[in-house]
Amino acid sequence: MIDGGLLVFLVVGAVGLGWFLGRRERKRSHYYEMGLRHLLNDEPDQAVATLVTELDFEKDSIDTHLALGGLLRRRGELEKAVFVHESVLNKARLDRATRNMVQIELARDYLQAGLLDRAETMSMNLAEENPEYRSESLKVALQVYEQERDWYRAIEIAQQVTGGAQESKIENAISHYCCELAELAIAEDNIEAATDHLTKAIGHNASNPRVSLLQGQVSLSNQDAKAAVRHFERVLVQNPIYVSESLLPLKSAYQLLADPDGYRQYLTQCLEQTPAMAVVLALGQVIEEQEGSEALARFIANQMQVNPSLRGFVELIEINLVHAEGRLAHNLTLLKDFAEAMVKEKPGYRCNDCGFEGKRMRWHCPSCREWASIEPLLGQDSD
Ligand SMILES: [Zn+2]
Repeated sequence: MIDGGLLVFLVVGAVGLGWFLGRRERKRSHYYEMGLRHLLNDEPDQAVATLVTELDFEKDSIDTHLALGGLLRRRGELEKAVFVHESVLNKARLDRATRNMVQIELARDYLQAGLLDRAETMSMNLAEENPEYRSESLKVALQVYEQERDWYRAIEIAQQVTGGAQESKIENAISHYCCELAELAIAEDNIEAATDHLTKAIGHNASNPRVSLLQGQVSLSNQDAKAAVRHFERVLVQNPIYVSESLLPLKSAYQLLADPDGYRQYLTQCLEQTPAMAVVLALGQVIEEQEGSEALARFIANQMQVNPSLRGFVELIEINLVHAEGRLAHNLTLLKDFAEAMVKEKPGYRCNDCGFEGKRMRWHCPSCREWASIEPLLGQDSD
């Protein structure tokens, strides 16, 4: 049996020892708590004073700071993320591996904050210094050059990025950098340079539909309608989703060849593979030109049964309006205006990766910065 006095002594002793051992930990938690409160209250100076006070300690707390910095960046609080990572880098005693880990995080902060010069310097230095971080650093630098639209430098850096699973993604990006250069050359009427860039683009991704669209454009400006048709029609094989982007210039090419039947045949073939409203409308136009408005009405009504869409609905009202009079014409016009307004509100394009929506085609998503992730919407109501 332990007597009462000894029991009290043992309990008090244990609590005292626990308090003594936990004191340092509590002191540190106190700093974290205060620092976090300052950060969240938008008081970066005070946050410095508290968070950084304990920075010459073990690795555990540096990991905490890295997690905090990463969290702040993901939340878009970039000034605070930069502040936390810079503080760790400047104040803590770090081994090389940890310093490099903080540097890549800081380079990402700079990039997201639009501090492109700093992002470039930090990532390029890190790529030189530590082979382990080379690929990740070069990807940060690549995004800098993409934002600066420095496509030559982007190609140069992308070719140095190595890494199994990412390889096809990088190759596709290089193909698009070449397309960007080709577009610039086309704008300057430098067809020779454009052709050269497009040949390189194919070398990096032979099934990039953007290349075919640009090659078609180059052929059209050379008055080579036959070659233009060949390039534009390749899009259907490469990715039917993008056929809608080719239809307008393809029609011009067939007009140059005076071959409306060829155009109609190709559109029919497209419709078998993609239910895009753009194809339905283009084919409808040809049917109307060749067979008249009744044939068009029949065609659109049939298509609406297979793939109902708001655009098809507008088209049907328009066809019926031609023959309507008086009150019926008035009501149909109201209905058409209403449906047209609804069509206008719909986005025409959406990014598969981040959901970004827009009215026009972009090959580079302005939100998630992926290449060729934005696609024309083919579905029920959209295009
Ligand atoms: Zn996106």
